[in-house]
Amino acid sequence: MPRRKFALSKRLFIAARADFLCEYCHTPEDFSPDLFNIEHVIPLLHDGTDEDGNLAYACGGCNGNKHGHVAWDDPQTGVHTSLFHPRNDNWQEHFSWNEDLTLLLGSTPKGRATIDLLEMNRLGLVNLRKALLAYGAHPGK
Ligand SMILES: [Zn+2]
Repeated sequence: MPRRKFALSKRLFIAARADFLCEYCHTPEDFSPDLFNIEHVIPLLHDGTDEDGNLAYACGGCNGNKHGHVAWDDPQTGVHTSLFHPRNDNWQEHFSWNEDLTLLLGSTPKGRATIDLLEMNRLGLVNLRKALLAYGAHPGK
């Protein structure tokens, strides 16, 4: 499927709405080595649309791991569950930080399934979170 380009004004709207954070792992774009993408929460493949309510701002790692998926198994129960939807779901309801703010914890089946599929605790992110803490720019602070 060809990549779609969004107008600059649309990109800025989506990025600002996300506060320039990945709407999944909450990595700040300014400090991420990944390019950020506007992603279709429900992929076009699954009849998702280009409407603002189906668009999210995501780092290349989360976006690449999510790919065309809309659901994944909760690693705790094995139950297939829909993924976190940045427009319809509340991030704080599904995710929290561990005590030292290096790992994301899933508070719900949806949170755990999304963390698992998107690998939201990949080593590069854990190390980046440590650096952001030291620098005073951690998104959970
Ligand atoms: Zn991310």
